[in-house]
Amino acid sequence: MRLAPERGVDHPDGLTYALPDSLASVRMGERVEAPLGRGNAPVAGYVIEILDSTTLDPARIKPVKRRLSGGLPPALVELAKWMARYYLCPIGMVFASMTPAAVKHDIGVVTRSALEPAPDASERLDAMKPTPSLAPLVEALRARMGDTSAWPVEPRALQKALGAATIAPVNRFVREGVLREVRVTTVRAAWGEVTPGDAARVTLSDEQRAALARIVGGLDTFAVHLLRGVTGSGKTEVYLDAIERVLAQGRSAIVLVPEISLTPQTSARFLARFGREGVAVLHSGLTSAQRNQQWSAVASGAARVVVGARSAVFAPTPHRLGLIVVDEEHDNSYKQDQLPRYHARDVAIKRAQIEGCPVVLGSATPSLESWKNALDGRFVLSTMRTRPAGMRLPRVVVVDLAEERRKRPWSENRVRLLGPTLETALRRTLDEGAQAILLLNRRGYANYICCPDHRCGWIMTCDDCDATMVFHKDKRLDPGRGGVVRCHHCLAEKLLPSHCPSCERKVSVFGLGTQRVEEELARDFADLRSGDTMLRLDSDTMRGGRDYFLALERFRKGDARVLLGTQMVAKGLDFPSVRLVGVVHADTAINLPDFRAAERTFQLVSQVAGRAGRSDKPGVVIVQTLAPKTPAVRFASRHDYEGFAQEELSQRERAGLPPFARMARIVIRDDDYAKAFDRASDLESALRQGADQTVLIRGPMPCPLSRIAGKHRIAIELLAPSAGPLQSALTAMRNAGLLRSDATAAIDVDPVALL
Ligand code: ADP
Ligand code: ZN
Ligand code: ZN
Repeated sequence: MRLAPERGVDHPDGLTYALPDSLASVRMGERVEAPLGRGNAPVAGYVIEILDSTTLDPARIKPVKRRLSGGLPPALVELAKWMARYYLCPIGMVFASMTPAAVKHDIGVVTRSALEPAPDASERLDAMKPTPSLAPLVEALRARMGDTSAWPVEPRALQKALGAATIAPVNRFVREGVLREVRVTTVRAAWGEVTPGDAARVTLSDEQRAALARIVGGLDTFAVHLLRGVTGSGKTEVYLDAIERVLAQGRSAIVLVPEISLTPQTSARFLARFGREGVAVLHSGLTSAQRNQQWSAVASGAARVVVGARSAVFAPTPHRLGLIVVDEEHDNSYKQDQLPRYHARDVAIKRAQIEGCPVVLGSATPSLESWKNALDGRFVLSTMRTRPAGMRLPRVVVVDLAEERRKRPWSENRVRLLGPTLETALRRTLDEGAQAILLLNRRGYANYICCPDHRCGWIMTCDDCDATMVFHKDKRLDPGRGGVVRCHHCLAEKLLPSHCPSCERKVSVFGLGTQRVEEELARDFADLRSGDTMLRLDSDTMRGGRDYFLALERFRKGDARVLLGTQMVAKGLDFPSVRLVGVVHADTAINLPDFRAAERTFQLVSQVAGRAGRSDKPGVVIVQTLAPKTPAVRFASRHDYEGFAQEELSQRERAGLPPFARMARIVIRDDDYAKAFDRASDLESALRQGADQTVLIRGPMPCPLSRIAGKHRIAIELLAPSAGPLQSALTAMRNAGLLRSDATAAIDVDPVALL
């Protein structure tokens, strides 16, 4: 057989081993241990192919040592082979990332002893000479014998089932050889209660019914559906009904949602519809034992609906897969930023193709890649333009921050992040007893620490990165203005300097961050108290999934009136009493040196705007911006996805950028700038020689973020009209041993971030 070791060696076809007789039944996808190299170090790996053993020379190949837990179904082996090729990643690493560590290490596994009938149980039972008191128990046991679901069973449970007064009769059956002892392994985990939501059925709208009909009309064949439905149009209801059909056919379904949107509210809807036992939920807030338990529930076939973040696309469903849903398909969290650098949406499409089932991509703001595929007829498009009766898309007001500042009296010279319009709207919302969500996609207090004298021009940057340091207030350090400065790209942290290191003036702190908004709100609104009636959600306050869930729960109950935060507050939240959404500064991403900056801004503003107006009361969205004319902001304020897409697509076409081209990016990292550059240059000339005419090669050039954690970063970008020539160029380099993903080189196929 061929083995793909989990670590090290990049052998796309795997290594050859023999299967000893005791392991002759090992099948494709199983996880085994085998000796590797001269020292025969034991390595774990996956069986990717079973070979005809007669062609192997037993003297020259080593035997597999033993079976391990955590094997995978054959469809996933196929998928791993494709990923290893497409994303240029060692296949062992692809496998390693498919199975959670908790599963490989048997976390939470409990082994108990249980009883089951011996093979000759009936004869032995007949041979017994029961006393009159034992006779009814013999009959009871005989009656249960054929019921496979009754076995194996724990001795005490059997005693109860048979109606025996003591355990003695059960022991007697064991002594007589009627029953035998077996070891039963289960995964146990403590569970926090998720209350399944109410399972109330809605009557689907015409748009919903049309979308559903298209999807369930072809559950037997591969097809990609793009479900574009405005925020709150009822996409989830369509998924739920489609999954119901899939289950009725005895198959399984996988639903991917961005990590952040996997709230208790989301899980509750699936649990309510399909029952606690039938649904496995996989997210980062689980303990290891819980994750193992959920994974086992999928692998055993007990849970046929899997709801999870990115890696749930690898859920090992034993039943034939009937549907994959990728909700919020445009979300960047579907792209993994370390090896293997896969995009879960694209992997989902590949998996659906292998399994022969449809995949549904849902979004209010589809990625331009998916949108173009739909326009070109490669994806089946369904559109839902309206919210269910009684709910309307909120009105969006764009306010120009420069004008807002002019409205303030001159006498008032402190910095304010909320202009008069947003401030008044927030006051009114709170007075009416409603709730508000405020978005500012930057954490910390302020992102510029600099010298007030522009002739000096000192700005505090990270020693190890090409980035400014961000000030984070910390009350524990100094109740006044004390705090720390942090680099958001490495872990560097320092105390806030009081004076400019070059001219000794007192430093200034400029710019904005969620902490600063929080401070302003607490100062200006007597009824907003941090951590109580106002909650800040960003990766500084939310240490894990649990914090996030608790915060959302407080908001849902109404204890908290204002939710303030980074993109964490933009996605998937569905709270009927949110009547105001404020975007504090829509421009945080617009000027980033990434061709998707406008698309990102459009998505973020549209998504957060969609949190308002989820009841029969109208909602309003106020977007503060320094660039009110920017197309991304303008189109988002009119809820005009198609208009935005058209404009942005024509720009991309002119520039020859995705989705009109396929892209790959190679980033070389080194402590030494010249070394990194030389290596990138060598690579570039090799690529130029090997690649097809149609492949455009750009670089080498320093990345926009030219240094992170002391490593200089040099990029080469490859663009081609289709994936084929790009893949052949990269594969040729890989096979020649010139290109390898490791600590010094990152190969990113279909990159989503170019910083
Ligand atoms: P999306 O996934 O598009 O954001 P949801 O499926 O979460 O939308 O629906 C938004 C809200 O509207 C939910 O509270 C849902 O229960 C409700 N809803 C969806 N479809 C209908 C319908 N046909 N009739 C009434 N309410 C609906
Ligand atoms: Zn840094
Ligand atoms: Zn200075």
